[in-house]
Amino acid sequence: MPAHSTLPLRQPGWSTRSVHAGDKRPFPHHALTFPVFHTATYTFDDTADLSQFMQARLWGPVDGRTEYGRYGNPTLSRVEDKLAELEGAGEAILFSSGMAAITTTLLSLLSAGDHLIITDDSYRRTRQFCLTTLKRLGIECSLVPAAQLDRLEPAIRPETKLIVSESPTNPYLRVLDLEHLVQIATRAGVKTLIDSTFATPINQRPLEFGIDLVVHSATKYLAGHNDLLAGVVAGSEYLVALIRENLWVMGATCDPHAAYLTYRGLKTLALRLSRQNETAQRVAEFLEPHSKIRRVWYPGLASHPDYEVARRQMSGFGGVVSFEVEGGLAEASRLVDSVRVPLIASSLGGVETLIEQPALMSYFELSGEERMQVGIKDNLVRLSVGIEDSEDLIADLAQALEAIE
Ligand SMILES: *Cc1c(COP(=O)(O)O)cnc(C)c1O
Repeated sequence: MPAHSTLPLRQPGWSTRSVHAGDKRPFPHHALTFPVFHTATYTFDDTADLSQFMQARLWGPVDGRTEYGRYGNPTLSRVEDKLAELEGAGEAILFSSGMAAITTTLLSLLSAGDHLIITDDSYRRTRQFCLTTLKRLGIECSLVPAAQLDRLEPAIRPETKLIVSESPTNPYLRVLDLEHLVQIATRAGVKTLIDSTFATPINQRPLEFGIDLVVHSATKYLAGHNDLLAGVVAGSEYLVALIRENLWVMGATCDPHAAYLTYRGLKTLALRLSRQNETAQRVAEFLEPHSKIRRVWYPGLASHPDYEVARRQMSGFGGVVSFEVEGGLAEASRLVDSVRVPLIASSLGGVETLIEQPALMSYFELSGEERMQVGIKDNLVRLSVGIEDSEDLIADLAQALEAIE
């Protein structure tokens, strides 16, 4: 029986895609689920078999097999095909972490003498990699404010190769106008990369707007259960092949077991996201008018600066709600210490609700003044809603807000 897809003939919905996209059945031994191939290397029948493979390999990937675990694994390929279909990409790669996806991608695309532009309000380690590691290698980097595209164009130089941004950003959930970004980049002949971790392909598909590459920390929503680290890059076959060549050298390949768990997690992606979008909207609407809350940052609220853009380009606003408590660091801590359901932890996107104060977590080693410079306020709390009942989360937040003096 020839390999076949299990997607329906009609244009499938996002839950159907989450479960079936990328699959070519039957699976080995007619297993319903795809096996985890725990192997570091692969065997050849004889030297003729080996020579034939090596000859074919000169022309690109060989269908159905590879020779070593850093170059491929069938379990990883299942995840990569599913992710490529969900993003509408030619190809995708699964890495050992989100940072591995970002660093391997940037090192693949940039050379000494090149310039790149990144937006602020971004993942701190991405910023650190661009501003220190890449700089040490002779790659200049400019930092521009997120979601202010008028500040982007003047930062472009003749040697600019790439614009990197998150959307939505962390922690203020700024949403970039991707169509406008692509116009600016295309005019200047510059490639674009969006870290779409906070959105997932369920809420936003940057490639459809003409963005060249999308990266994700699959640690967050894609895997979704706070039990592994993984990362993704997706884009055209040409660009992704270039990055894959570099991955084979740099070695940040995903482990087959983590790949299997990612594949398993992806099956419930649309289901989880629809709950998380809904709960986060309810939580944001509960918090906004509360007397102990100064400001809520959620792109599904009309008060968010990017509400209109988000409505145009996203089909859901995600599960992260950031908010400022009336008062300062102590009042924010009082709230965080008083909730019962959300667990105090960094990360986001999993089934458990997590809560954190950016000033005490990602930005702890900065002074209060330095934190203000990067825009991290002391009274800021970031809540990543899980899949618990929204009524429970809201009641819990309500009692915790009462605990603030
Ligand atoms: C967590 C995160 C990363 C880093 O991913 P890891 O899987 O932790 O390496 C990058 N970008 C964003 C937006 C993230 O939230």
